[in-house]
Amino acid sequence: MKVGKNKVVTLTYTLHANDENGEIIQKVDESRPFVHLFGVGTLLPDFEKNLEGLEPGDEFAFSLTAEQGYGKSNPEMILDLDKKIFEIDGKVDENIVFEGNTITMQDQNGNPIEGKVVNVGENSVKMDFNHPLAGQNLFFKGKILDVREATEEELAHGHVHGDGGHHH
Ligand code: ZN
Repeated sequence: MKVGKNKVVTLTYTLHANDENGEIIQKVDESRPFVHLFGVGTLLPDFEKNLEGLEPGDEFAFSLTAEQGYGKSNPEMILDLDKKIFEIDGKVDENIVFEGNTITMQDQNGNPIEGKVVNVGENSVKMDFNHPLAGQNLFFKGKILDVREATEEELAHGHVHGDGGHHH
């Protein structure tokens, strides 16, 4: 069976920054493979396009530009926030608020949003709320392990059940 819309695909991959020789960002191996329902809009469209038509046993290697990936870094998503926001009991925890750390905060609607601390100033903290892979060219290399039809229930829910999937 070939990878395509409404198929449940099990695969391994290594994600590198930029190209095959780039830093490894993520590695998903056969002990905990990636299991996902294809064609329902939850994966990067160009990621799916590159895998379409492949069969179990097939290997793949392809690049995505930042635009095909998680988009360009948006300067409006980098904000200087009042340091007081980070205070707990009148004190900023330096074990949490430090350069390079990722912190979960809340947006205007109270939804959790992850941001990376860019810089800690005297009165403000510069936070980057762009996707961690924004502005990054991506290189994926891996192997298709399994392809099966999604069940009616999986299609109704828009995600995989059972092994490697959700249980609800
Ligand atoms: Zn479900």
